Order: sequence, then C-alpha cells, then structure tokens
Amino acid sequence: MAHVITRPCCNDASCVAVCPVNCIHPTPDEPTFFTAESLYIDPDTCIDCGACIDECPVEAIIPDDQLDERDEPYLQINADYYKDHDVEGGLVPPKKAPKLPEGDVRVAIVGAGPAAFYAAEELVRKPQISVDMFDRLPTPYGLVRAGVAPDHAATKGVESTFAATSAKRNFRYFLNVEVGKHISHDELTARYNAVIYAVGAPTDKRLGIPGEELSGSVSATEFVAWYNGHPDFADLTFDLSGERAVVVGNGNVALDVARILVTDPDDLAKTDIADHALAALRESNIREVVLLARRGIAQAAYTNSEFLALGEVDGVDVIIDPAELTLDPVSEAAQSDDELDSTIATKLRLAREFAERPTTEGNKRIVFRFLTSPTELTGDGKAEALHAVRNVYTEAGENVAIVPTDDGFDLETGLVLRAIGYRGVPINDVPFDEVRCVVPNVEGRVQSSVDGEIVRGLYVTGWIKRGATGGIGRNRLCGQETAESVIADFVEGVLPQASTSADDVADLVADRGAHRIDLPGWKNIDATERSAGKSAGRRRVKLVHIDELESASREAAE
Ligand code: NAP
Repeated sequence: MAHVITRPCCNDASCVAVCPVNCIHPTPDEPTFFTAESLYIDPDTCIDCGACIDECPVEAIIPDDQLDERDEPYLQINADYYKDHDVEGGLVPPKKAPKLPEGDVRVAIVGAGPAAFYAAEELVRKPQISVDMFDRLPTPYGLVRAGVAPDHAATKGVESTFAATSAKRNFRYFLNVEVGKHISHDELTARYNAVIYAVGAPTDKRLGIPGEELSGSVSATEFVAWYNGHPDFADLTFDLSGERAVVVGNGNVALDVARILVTDPDDLAKTDIADHALAALRESNIREVVLLARRGIAQAAYTNSEFLALGEVDGVDVIIDPAELTLDPVSEAAQSDDELDSTIATKLRLAREFAERPTTEGNKRIVFRFLTSPTELTGDGKAEALHAVRNVYTEAGENVAIVPTDDGFDLETGLVLRAIGYRGVPINDVPFDEVRCVVPNVEGRVQSSVDGEIVRGLYVTGWIKRGATGGIGRNRLCGQETAESVIADFVEGVLPQASTSADDVADLVADRGAHRIDLPGWKNIDATERSAGKSAGRRRVKLVHIDELESASREAAE
C-alpha cells in the first residue's frame, strides 16, 4: 500500500516536512521544485503512516486502496515521476529559528491573498512582530476567492490556514482600505518597520493582433474575476450567444475558463460561482470551446492533473487531432531514447488517450489545437471570426521556438478569451522592472532598480515578486522567504525605525473616507455568505457589490 497525491495538490509542500521517510518529492530544496506541476509520493518508499494527509490543506492525498475511479490515474502519475527522478533518502532538516533581539516590529502587508498570508503566518508566530494587513476589497484571500475556479472547492481549503493566522492577537485587518488612496506609501513607511507588497499581477498580457480591441475579444482574467464575483468585474457582460468560444493559450487559466463555459449550469449551481455568472451561463449557447496553443504538446502550459480532470466533466468531449501531437526534435529524440521527461510523457499519453476516446452525440466539446496562433480578429463592430495559422518548430531546446506558416484557417466565433498570462503593474513610489513586470528584489528585499541597492524596510512577495507563475501553494515558500528576510533584517538591526506610531492608522484611513472592515466585520460577511449558501447546498453565496459587503460586515448573520 502507498499514499497517492491527486489533482488538488497545491505544491505548498507542507506534506514534505512531516513525511518520516522523505518519500514526497520534489522537496523545496530540490532543483525541480519550482517547476514541478505537482508533488508526488514514491510508492516504493511510502510507509502509509498518513502524516501527510493530516497536513495537506487541500485534501489531495489519498491511500491507494481508497482511490475512486476518477483518481485511479494518479497511481501511475505518482509512480512515473520516480522513473526519471533520483531522489535521495533522508529527512528535510527543519530550519533553526533565529533568536530575536529585544523590541517590537510592526509590519504592514499590502494585499490579502495567499502570498500575503503565507508571509504573515511566518511573522505572527513571533509575538514581538505584529502585522497589519491591508486590502482594497472588503474580503480577504485574493485569488483563492477571485481566481480559483468555483468547481475547485478543495483548493479553497487553504482559507482555514489563513483564518488561523488572522485570528492571532498580533494580526489586524484593514480590509476595504486602499493603499495609495486612503493611506500613502510614505505614510506606511513612516509607521511600520517593514512594508511588504503582496499585490499580485492584476492585469493581462495582450496578443497585439489586428481586431484584438473588438467587442467580444476579452481577457480571461476578467472573465475569471466575473464568474468569481470580484466586485470590480461583477457588472461586466459577455456575449455567450454564439455556439463557439475560442481561448488563446493553454495554461490552467485557459482550462478553467473552457471548463466553466461548457459545464452543466446545474453542476455549477452547487458551487460558489457568482449568481450573475450562473444566470448568464444558463442562457449560454456555447457548445464548443477551442483552445489555441502556439507550441506543441510537449510545451503545453496546463498541468496534467487539470488536463486529466477535463475528461470527468459530464456531457463534454475532449477533442484532439492525433496528427497535431507532434513533438519538437529534442523531445522526439528523447522519446526515441526512452528518456522523455516523465511529465511530458504523461502529457503525451493523456493527449493520445483523449484523441482515441469515442465522442458522444449531443455532447459539448473542448477542442485542443496545437502549433496554432491567432493572427487576426474580424467582425462588424464586434468579433465574428478569428483567423489562425499553423506553426512549425524552428529550433529545439529549453525554449522551443516556432514560426508561423501560410497555412491558415478561420473559426467563426463571437467570444475570444486571451488566457496568455497575467502581468504585474507598477506600485506608486516602489521600483519596478518594466521588462519582467515585477518589483526588483533579492529574496523579497526590494531593490532600488534591477540589480540596484536594497531599499531598507521594503519587501515583496507572490506574483509581484517572482512573476505570474505557480498556483496557490507555490506562494507558501515565496511568502516564507520574504518573512525570513524581514526577520533576518530585524536580527541584523537594519530595519528602519518607524517615525510615527501606527496606532492612528484606523483613524487616518477613516478620515480619508475608508469604511475599514476588520476581523469581526469579515466574519460577519463570511457568515452571511455561508448561511445564504447553506439553504441552497452551496459553500457560500457570494456578495459581489461593495455596498452589500459593507452592509453585511456591520451585521452579524442570523
Ligand atoms: P501560463 O500557465 O503561463 O500559460 C500561458 C499560456 O499562454 C501558455 O500556453 C503560453 O504559451 C500562452 N501564450 C503566452 N503568450 C502568448 C502569445 N503571445 N500568443 C499565444 N499564446 C501565448 O498562464 P496562466 O494560465 O495565466 O496561469 C498562471 C499561473 O497560475 C500558472 O502557473 C498556472 O499553473 C497557475 N494556475 C493554476 C491553476 C490550478 O492549479 N488549477 C489555475 C489557474 C492558474 P507558451 O508556453 O508558448 O508561452
């Protein structure tokens, strides 16, 4: 018997530290940790103790004799990882916490998403360190609330870890307070010894093709925020009247939006999807979603677990033309030598299995196209068709390059979603790397410019620190690293002294018109949403307008 890691794995590696036989890999100190799609349990080493199950925040670990049919493929996926990864035995040594000097440290964290919380969790363990967390929204948890797909309830399990942090005596919420509007960056640095920006990567990348501005051509980031009830996007509308949507890109965001577009609304109605989105999806005519990937199957940006899960969506066929599953020359050679990377081998195997599956008449379809790029959107005032061309490989290697050919085709569609990645934006008064769209930093310590001096007392964590890669749990080590930098700077005595007390912050932001929501206020919102969900058998019914959220924050739910 062995335990098996399944789809919800969030890569936060909390399981790694508790495994007594070091059978979960890659570990954070292995080079592949930051690029691995998931963690995997070595079936030959696992002793079935179950310690990892208790530690996993997203219920991803299951004993192999309890796997249901849906999770059965993870037996092979876990075992395959160990075919081409030599892992060393021995436990991951716990880090020794440094002894802190006398004195108190006040830290402001801007943003209340996962990266913010993982940093806060580490800091509030020390009673000398207090954390004030600011977010311009009335609700915390960032992309866990506004990004994670509504049908991925297990992933939202991390919220309970965050709630435990926010319950600490040395933690205060300043929700519904906007830094830059209700309090400036300079006012924060005057009041806190350390300011950590954890503001994510809120905007999207552009394709730069003619017709991209047409109505009906939208970013997947907006669509995701809309169906998840983010207040800034709740009033958007999307044209779902056509039978086909096209998604550009094939990362996990692309898969999320494709799945939501074709999932039976009755199934979505059991989730915490925003009511306005559910109503619109009930009226939707979309029957086919085509995903365009500019490169080949070996470079597919989605994770295997999300790809595999598409096969479980009721009433939906996954369509792949086997002729498009060509490998770049390096992958081809590796395959011939039986040395193909196990993750790529799994991508190929799953794609071939999908390609061979019989389809069912009347089913909706998710169609994967590889080596295909959109070149133009056309339409009379709104998107009506997309022109795309076939690509070919030019050179192989780490970054497999492609070039377009003249071989083109048209797809009729009124909805084109760009799912080609998120992008960080500059923060007022904070250095910014315009090329990478991140704040330049060393282990979370902000630099005055790329390769510049350290700006004392200023830190970043999450996507604004490392770019928009990695799911929720990937922020755990990122947040810990930044928190450790703050603590190390405290120990070194290089944290700036605050020139003003932070005791006036609540009054200051109130004078500027902020209706601050604190922990009891958020608990009221949470209880209101959960109680509305209970009667409908849903996790919660989200409030999506600022005024209703503010009003719920003031009233305890019945
Ligand atoms: P992503 O994984 O970086 O995927 C971006 C996709 O866009 C790739 O297919 C990329 O192709 C393509 N692309 C980029 N520029 C393009 C262009 N100019 N033309 C055509 N295609 C282009 O980004 P994402 O899907 O936004 O996800 C962001 C991160 O969040 C990822 O780490 C993802 O795993 C994570 N996430 C995880 C989950 C989950 O675990 N369920 C859900 C959502 C997001 P190339 O590879 O050729 O560049």
